[in-house]
Amino acid sequence: MKFSGWRVLREGLTGNAGWTPHWRDPEPKAEYDAVIIGGGGHGLSTAYYLAKNHGMSNIAVLEKGYIGGGNVGRNTTIVRANYFLQGNSEFYSHSLKLWEGLEGDLNYNVMHSQRGLINLFHSDGQRDAFVRRGNAMVNQGDDAVLLDRDGVRKLLPYLDFENTRFPIYGGLLHPRGGTARHDAVAWGYARGADQRGVDLLQNCEVTGIDIENGKVRGVQTTRGAIRAKKVGIVVAGRSGQVAAMAGMRLPIESHVLQAFVTEGLKPCIDHVVSFGMGHFYISQSDKGGLVFGGDLDFYASYASRGNLPMVEHVMEAGMTLMPMIGKAKVLRSWGGIMDMTPDGSPIIDKTDTEGLFIDCGWCYGGFKAVPGSGYSFAHLMATGSHHAPAAKFRLDRFRTGVGLIDEEGTGSQHNLH
Ligand SMILES: Cc1cc2nc3c(=O)[nH]c(=O)nc-3n(C[C@H](O)[C@H](O)[C@H](O)COP(=O)(O)OP(=O)(O)OC[C@H]3O[C@@H](n4cnc5c(N)ncnc54)[C@H](O)[C@@H]3O)c2cc1C
Repeated sequence: MKFSGWRVLREGLTGNAGWTPHWRDPEPKAEYDAVIIGGGGHGLSTAYYLAKNHGMSNIAVLEKGYIGGGNVGRNTTIVRANYFLQGNSEFYSHSLKLWEGLEGDLNYNVMHSQRGLINLFHSDGQRDAFVRRGNAMVNQGDDAVLLDRDGVRKLLPYLDFENTRFPIYGGLLHPRGGTARHDAVAWGYARGADQRGVDLLQNCEVTGIDIENGKVRGVQTTRGAIRAKKVGIVVAGRSGQVAAMAGMRLPIESHVLQAFVTEGLKPCIDHVVSFGMGHFYISQSDKGGLVFGGDLDFYASYASRGNLPMVEHVMEAGMTLMPMIGKAKVLRSWGGIMDMTPDGSPIIDKTDTEGLFIDCGWCYGGFKAVPGSGYSFAHLMATGSHHAPAAKFRLDRFRTGVGLIDEEGTGSQHNLH
């Protein structure tokens, strides 16, 4: 089934009776060439690129819940390539290029909207840091524009420029940054993988990883044992628990990150805006809700709910930056479990067990990484060699201390304050 404007028109005129399910609901086979544990954005994109780029179709994605039920469908949807450090900058640059061709590639409307991301700065020191970051972005081949106070006022007239405790000095605009519809990304990759023969096994929780003589043999699941020559662990907030099934102790802490959505409003915020003096960033969804969030709750937890002090902090920061937000009613909030590494940068690597691979540590920035992560992890799983843009995401950097990518201290225990 292909999507097109003509198809939408025809279905609309004929009672929408011609649509077929986006993917099959197959029974698990006894054996696959590769299994991916985790049907989130990263697991699905890995399966898609394994099939598309490496011709592997005897693959299964094992998801304990339903496709799109994890953080891939519950995040604030920001897509950007504005990293400073080598390792991150080439990876996210590659990922953004994949985003830019994604809808055509998947034949699926993921509502990728490059509306521009503006990081505000409020001091000379912050301006210097953003100038450096902007230069790094431009050197990487991405885009960055330094705005002064008037430049910001022109684009974001609704911010408080007069009475605020933290005057706005300017902002770094990343024009190609923006948002995408999160669950559509999961559905698009799932559909694309299924069309290439990948089995998507939902309600299939992995409960054990079978290893013999240092080689992976398969997995135990709630739907029976499945043999596989290669196994990829891609379970985001549950990475520590699943890796423990293979006897690994990861350098990862799971923390809660919260986000909030207001009632639907007329269009009023047409960029993604990030406050430089508090934990607050915001955009407006295509349905009209203001989508905003802050920072981690700052203690390790597997509870998918947030604490009230962080709610208060986010609301205060929002009111400081744009008092108009006080009139909007918050409709819902949620907390997701983040797989936080100590340096705030991810891991895409082999493990000491032959055939067992791991892709994790995406912290609170893994949505924008979905295309790049799947692409690079599929490359690693299929060829055994690192894909260049992700070559620095090595697991052993936390053991040796060599090659840490400490992007402004955004890891599990921030050193910003
Ligand atoms: C509030 C919030 C806001 C965020 N905002 C942004 C943002 O604006 N931009 C951005 O880039 N990132 C953002 N993120 C981060 C991003 O959502 C995550 O980094 C990313 O979604 C994680 O990768 P994933 O999609 O594969 O995870 P998930 O969708 O969580 O997928 C992991 C899957 O593994 C499955 N699983 C776990 N254990 C097992 C098992 N034993 N067996 C089988 N399956 C298992 C889970 O059920 C789950 O479906 C945000 C996150 C949150 C919570």
